[in-house]
This record gives sequence, C-alpha cells and structure tokens, in this order.
Amino acid sequence: MTASLRVAVLAGGYGGAKLSHGLALIEQRDPPLDLSVVVNTADDLQVHGLCVSPDLDTVMYTLAGLANPDTGWGLRDETWSAAEMLERYGVETWFRLGDRDLATNLLRTDRLRRGDRLTAVTDGLARALGIRARLLPMTDDRVATKVRTDDGWLDFQEYFVHRRHEDTVHELRYEGIAAARPTEEVLDALESADLLLLAPSNPFLSIGPILALPGVVETIVSARARVVAISPIVAGKAVRGPADRIFTSLGGRASAAGVATHYVERYPDLLDALVIDEVDYGDAPAIEALGLRVFPAATVMRSEPDRERLATEILESLGRRG
Ligand code: GDP
Repeated sequence: MTASLRVAVLAGGYGGAKLSHGLALIEQRDPPLDLSVVVNTADDLQVHGLCVSPDLDTVMYTLAGLANPDTGWGLRDETWSAAEMLERYGVETWFRLGDRDLATNLLRTDRLRRGDRLTAVTDGLARALGIRARLLPMTDDRVATKVRTDDGWLDFQEYFVHRRHEDTVHELRYEGIAAARPTEEVLDALESADLLLLAPSNPFLSIGPILALPGVVETIVSARARVVAISPIVAGKAVRGPADRIFTSLGGRASAAGVATHYVERYPDLLDALVIDEVDYGDAPAIEALGLRVFPAATVMRSEPDRERLATEILESLGRRG
C-alpha cells in the first residue's frame, strides 16, 4: 500500500472550512490523503457561561456535512427556541446560538470544566460526528484577538458580530499569545506534513493568530512540507468579510499581490507558492518577483463540487512529494 500524502491546513472558519471540506471530499486518491486541520481559536468567547469556539465549529459542522449553507456558520435545519426564550428574559442575544449548536457548546463547556483539553474535547466531538480528518485547535491555551477601532479596543466578536465588522481596524493584538503554546498534536501535524496549506482565510484574523503562536513559524520553516497559501482576495475584494478593508487600513493592498507581500514581509521564507484566482493572473509577475511560485485556479468555492475541484487542482499541482 502507498504511504499516504500528509496534508495540513491552517484555517479560520468559512474559507478554511470550505477548502478543508474539499480535501475531505476526495475519497479515492492515490496516494491516500491524511488530513489535519489546524484551526484558529483566537475568536473563542464565553456566551451565557458557555465556551464557544466559532471557527472550530464552522470547520467541524462543514466537514460533518451539517453546516448551514446559507450563513456559512451554524447548523442546517437549526431551531432557535432557546435564543427566543433568552430574549424573553431580556438577555442580549446578538451572538445567537441555535438549539442544536447549544448542545455542542454545552458538551464542550462541561468537558472543559472537568479538566479535559480543548484538543481532546474537539476530537471527541468530531469523531462522534463521523469526521475522519484530525480537527486540531491551534492551542489549548487562551488567546483572544482584540481590535483597535475609532472607538478604542474592542473584543473580537463585539467588532465582528455585534458591530458587523464595519469599524475601521487600526491595530490588532492577540491577547495571551506570548504565553500560549501550540499543542503537541499541532506541532506533529506541521512537522510531518508533506503539504501545508494556508487556507483562503482572513490573514489577520484567522491565519495571523496561528502563525503568531510561539514556535509555529519556526517549526514550519524547518519542516519538510511545501507551504502554499490560497489568496482570500479575489479581484481586489474579500470573498466575504472585512479582509480587503483590513489590508487597506493596516497599510497593505487588497489584491493577490498584496496577499503575497503580506506573507513574504511578515514571514520571510515561509511560503513556497501562492494560489491566486484566475481573474488575478495580471498579478503573477509581481508575486513571482517576491520569490513565490504562482498557481492560478478558480478559487471561489460556491458549491461542494467547487470545493472538491479546487482541492484536487491544488493537490495535482502541488501535492507531489519532494
Ligand atoms: P471566518 O473565520 O468565518 O471569518 O472565516 P475565514 O477567515 O476562514 O474566511 C474568511 C476569508 O476567506 C475572507 O477573507 C474571504 O475573502 C475568504 N474566502 C471565503 N470563501 C472563499 C472562497 O471561496 N475562495 C477564496 N479564494 N476566498 C474565500
């Protein structure tokens, strides 16, 4: 039997979940895929006393085929009785948890309070939902993204959900990052990968915290994997969310070349290649001038076949060992 091709993905919620799902959908492949998804947890928060991990759950529900296709977060066929009752009590519910989602968060919170690591809790939930990929929180420690706006520093979900990411972002910090550690499982996935993908996730809000964990960049650079990012910016715009505006407000450019510049300047020697959308082919010379190989593809994943097609193209172009 052929040894499997080990693929690790660094992911946030929506874009990261779709690419990971595309990889997970490729069932029959020679060599077979061994998939690990390392997920941002710097968006995690407490809601009504529960420990909520939005990006982990988006990836988990997506890989389990349970995600709500209209919102990109939460579960399909969700009901909202608990949220309605909370509203009757006059509780703020701008961060809404559906009834079924509540079950996930109840279990996670209970297990964490009994002393289990987030890594073990997540593994238990993912296995119960039939997920075969390794779903790995980036850390078991507490990291919290804070965003500086015209109104001062805001908690991440206050900025993102409550204020609908409309504020201009002047500065970001990942509180707790210096004392946090990537888990053994994450380091093992990074060290043993043949191919490491930086998903088309927000480079500042999703990929940034993972790469900021002490030792992660060094581990990737000294490991053997080919490292490839997929641009979350297509034709100068984020496919969704505020990434394009954050590029501009933090002094970069919202373009495929701007994504390349961001990664090359902040993390020299990290990337080997950037997958850009076909519509951005004009940026290829500028990206190659930064020392990266460029792979154009149809990167906008509107459907499940789109996800699988993009994942297959990436593996065919870049997934060979050596
Ligand atoms: P969040 O944590 O839920 O905000 O999700 P992510 O950070 O994983 O994904 C949001 C980012 O992914 C945004 O910058 C989007 O532009 C990008 N994105 C989402 N879907 C797609 C897609 O289908 N293709 C590409 N190229 N980028 C995408």
